[in-house]
Amino acid sequence: METRILDGQSRIIDVRGIKIGDGYPPVMIAGPCAVENEEQIFQTAIKVKNAGANILRGGVFKPRTSPYVFQGLGKEGLLMMKKIADELDMPIITELMDIGNLELIYEYADILQIGSRNMYNYPLLKALGDVDKPVMLKRGMSATINEWILAAEYIAAHGNTKIILCERGIRSFETYTRNTLDLSAVPIMKEKTGLPIIVDPSHGTGRRELIKPMSKAALACGADGLMIEVHIQPDKALSDAQQSIDTEHFKQIMSEIIPFCNPL
Ligand code: PEP
Ligand code: MN
Repeated sequence: METRILDGQSRIIDVRGIKIGDGYPPVMIAGPCAVENEEQIFQTAIKVKNAGANILRGGVFKPRTSPYVFQGLGKEGLLMMKKIADELDMPIITELMDIGNLELIYEYADILQIGSRNMYNYPLLKALGDVDKPVMLKRGMSATINEWILAAEYIAAHGNTKIILCERGIRSFETYTRNTLDLSAVPIMKEKTGLPIIVDPSHGTGRRELIKPMSKAALACGADGLMIEVHIQPDKALSDAQQSIDTEHFKQIMSEIIPFCNPL
């Protein structure tokens, strides 16, 4: 495997003053799977911020398995998220699904998220090379460590080294969980690439009762942060209801993870 840029030297990513990477406290990214309406994103944002979240997440272009379910609010949702994020002075992260929306997402988001389904989308990865904002590259659900490293190298090779990795679980023979969260990827990817890595226990397990223990485990093995799906009424969420937690549950996790931060 050939990497020319990502050589294992530690890189720190700065998101509007929030530093992500070695030597910095874990960054907490929280918010709904999808932005659904103003009330939902406003309430969620205020509560996760009060609980200690640093960055607000919310999908507006959703990569749904079925074409017949909620696909996201698009630009309208992005504007809603931006409005509350500005009021709370929180950076935002949202998924870029296709090159056609690059300018739009670039204009409003502080971190551009590349979803699991697009990790192999090489034209999209190349296009991100021209971008001067951080990109969060989620692991493809069937990607090997080497494929994931080279996907990151695509972005770096085209000019953008502001890359944050995100382990979000891989498909395995196990069906009890939605994916198998591969925490061994955390120390491996940090050592091989030097890039910061965030763990997403929500997609990584698909089950809300596993978010807290896997959050602790992720931080214990050196993750630079977590991304957690939080909803004001999880059972009514229009996407990923089973893995979404309510704001009280998020607050509880925040209070319990402190001993697991920076143990290495
Ligand atoms: C998400 O984080 O909103 C998402 C769709 O995740 P993934 O790409 O990991 O499935
Ligand atoms: Mn989701």
